[in-house]
Parts: sequence; C-alpha cells; structure tokens
Amino acid sequence: MTVEKVVEGEKEIDSKKFLEELKNVNEEYNLMREIKRGEQNQGELDNIPFVAKDAICTEGVTTSAGSKILENYRPVFDATVVERLKQSGAQFFGKTEQDEFGFGTFSTNNAFTTPKNPHDKERVVGGSSGGAGAIVAAMDRPLISLGESTGGSITNPASYNGVVGITPTYGRVSRYGLVDYANSLDKIGVLAKNIYGAAKGLEIIAGHDENDQTTSREKVQKYSDLEEKEDLKIGVPKQYLELEGLEEGVKENFEKSLEKFEEMSHEVEEIDMPLLSADYAVPSYYVLAMAEASTNLAKMSGIRYGFEMDPEDFEDFNEYFSEVRSEGFGEEAKRRILLGTYTRQAGYRDQYYIKAAEVRQKIINQYKEAFEEYDVLVSPSMPNIAPKIEEAKDMNPAEIYAMDTLTVGPNLAGLPMISVPNGKSNGMPTGLHIVGDHFEEKKILDVAYTYR
Ligand code: GLN
Repeated sequence: MTVEKVVEGEKEIDSKKFLEELKNVNEEYNLMREIKRGEQNQGELDNIPFVAKDAICTEGVTTSAGSKILENYRPVFDATVVERLKQSGAQFFGKTEQDEFGFGTFSTNNAFTTPKNPHDKERVVGGSSGGAGAIVAAMDRPLISLGESTGGSITNPASYNGVVGITPTYGRVSRYGLVDYANSLDKIGVLAKNIYGAAKGLEIIAGHDENDQTTSREKVQKYSDLEEKEDLKIGVPKQYLELEGLEEGVKENFEKSLEKFEEMSHEVEEIDMPLLSADYAVPSYYVLAMAEASTNLAKMSGIRYGFEMDPEDFEDFNEYFSEVRSEGFGEEAKRRILLGTYTRQAGYRDQYYIKAAEVRQKIINQYKEAFEEYDVLVSPSMPNIAPKIEEAKDMNPAEIYAMDTLTVGPNLAGLPMISVPNGKSNGMPTGLHIVGDHFEEKKILDVAYTYR
C-alpha cells in the first residue's frame, strides 16, 4: 500500500510531528480523552496513525467510555480491533471523546468535556463517536479512527465533520473489548479522510474472532481494491424525503447527489418503505437499545467495575451501589437505565420490548425485499448540519432522538452503511448515506468511490 493513498498529499508520516499536531488540535477542540503514543510497528500500514473511541479497550490506556464511573479504568488488554491494527503496523495515538456509553447524538453527554467542531467551534461534533469523526477533520495528517455505531454513531459524526465513515454489517467486526452499549446493535467501524482509508482500516479489523462468537466466518473481501460501478439501481426511501426537520440545504445537496448519479447513467428511483418513518424505526430502536443498555450497565456497581467508595461508610450493599451509580452516571445514562428497565419488566415487556423486537424484524424484511431490486439505498446522512452547542443543550430528548430517523433503520437491520461528504450548507458539511445488503461492504465502498 502506498501511504499517499490513505493520506492524499502527504508523503511521509512523521510520528513526532503527528503527536505535536494532535496535542495542539486537542487543546483547541477537546477531542481526545487521552493522548498516548504507542510503539511504531512494521507492517502493511507502516506507522499510519490510529486512534480509538474511548469505549474501545486499550491496554494501559484510559477506557472510560465517556463516563465518570469508568474514569480510571485502564484495561489490561487490547480490544481485537486495536490488536489487529497494531499488528498491521499502524501506530496508536490515543482515545477520542464520545457520549457517555454511546448515549447521544452530539457528544455533549460526556462526563469530561464538550468537544468542538473543527469547522465551527460553536457547533457540536456529533455523536456518539464525535471525537472520532472530528479528529479526522481537524488533523492535517492521515489517520484511521475507530468508531462505534449502535444507532448511527459513525454516520452522524462523519456527516457533521465532513469525513468518511463506514459502519460494517453486524458481526463483520469483532466486538471483543468494546464497552457494550446494546449488544445486538453495536458495530465497530472506521472514520477516515477518504474512502480508501476507510476501506483499508475496515479490511484490517474485519473477520472472524475466536473471542467473539457473534463474528461471521464469511470471507473478508479486499475492500481497498476500489472499483467504479456501472448501471447501478439506486433506491431512495420515500419516507426519508418527507421527514420533518429535513433542512433545506441538506435536501438540496442530496438532490444534487442524485443528479450526479443520474448523469453517470445510474438509475435512481423512489421506494416506499413505510417502516422507516419516524413513527416506527425510532421508537423500536430506542426501546431495544435502552433495554439492552440498562442490563449492560448493571455491572457498573463499584465492585468489579466502576469507581469505588469506602464500603465502611455505607449501611449495606444496596446503599453502597446506589451511591456509586448516582455519582458515576450522567443524566442521560440514568434516563436510559430507568426507561430500559421499565420496558422489559414483567407486565410491560409484551407492550414494549417484544413489540419493538417485532417491528425490528419487519424492518429487516422490508430491507431484504428492497435489496432484491436495488443495489443500494441512499439518503442524506443526517437531517441537519451540526447544531450549535448552545442549541443542542436546549433540545429535549424526544427532539434529539428524532434526529436519528435516517440512521436507526439500517442499524436495526444490521446493514453496512457509509457516509461520504456531499457538499456544504451554511458553511458546514453534509453527508450522503449509502446503505447496502448484509456483507456488501465492498459494494457500498465501490458505490461511494464511483460517486466521489
Ligand atoms: N443517538 C443514538 C443513541 O443515542 C445512537 C448512538 C450510537 O449509535 N451509539 O442511541
């Protein structure tokens, strides 16, 4: 591989200079949880720098998943994705800021800091892998940035920061060493400056892992052999175009993207996918994601995980762990623990959890039918440009959750998706979302490459 391909424009990676720039950029935008330069290894990716979302375990380096409760957690092992990148010759540089446990859309639900968008410091970086997306945009040098998506957390920051973000099929990439948000939805993916960087990064981390039995044995294709596609049949879910809150500038850029495809002689058609509307996909996603999240967080009790207090100060275990949890979790995490516990409780389970799981299955079926006819489905990545940090603070949870309408569908279905920049609105980047059938990472990368 030539380094130039990942980096466009840069000839040599100088690790010292990279570190310096990373520190400067961080001072300005608060994007890194911890900066720590790892060893320079030899291999295919020869010293290409990489960083990882805070929720991805890194040996001896803070892994707090944006939460106070894990503030001092330093794992004794590397997540599989980190290990694979290190083995490929890539050089580790640290951890990126995120929403607490992935609960959020702007990275403002963070126990430590508020990351700022490199295109406009008054705006959010997106979430939950906000630092992971923004650092790619802020650095002049190339890097591979590991993110994680449960309901859209790679697409969202890719769009808000004007970078490329690929979310693989569920089970394509090992989750071993990921601080879980919702196990049936979590996927680790890659953010990078260009399509080649995203493809190369994914190629290294994808594939079966003995330590994660949900990983597929399906062969990993050579994603980085990018090819231009001809005669594509592209579907545009009609429900997305009718979305309330779809900003004018975003819509215009999307229409231009469609025109571009048409000019290249691809066929573009609207398709009716009723379950992708905000009425079904969003509630189904939030019920399932919160139910799983609330069980995952049960282990953060200050015994095996989570910060400790002096047990002598408490009457019994219940009092001890409720104090640890009250102190350690932020507001959004608490909200999700309450709602998630409620929806899977006896008496309510049928009404919420089971129903949401049924809707999820129907969404999957609807996609499967669509892919019988279309190569890929496209939409805007996010309905808006990155809002101002102050505006984001004023939004209520329901308004924020609604912003995920374009991304929760493919995430619920475990489909691969890629967000690529498709212009600017009001000086801020917007994104084009390309969704493919299961295990069609190569195809969506090729479509993105064709579009570039
Ligand atoms: N915004 C969504 C949520 O809060 C998605 C986050 C994610 O993918 N981690 O759940």
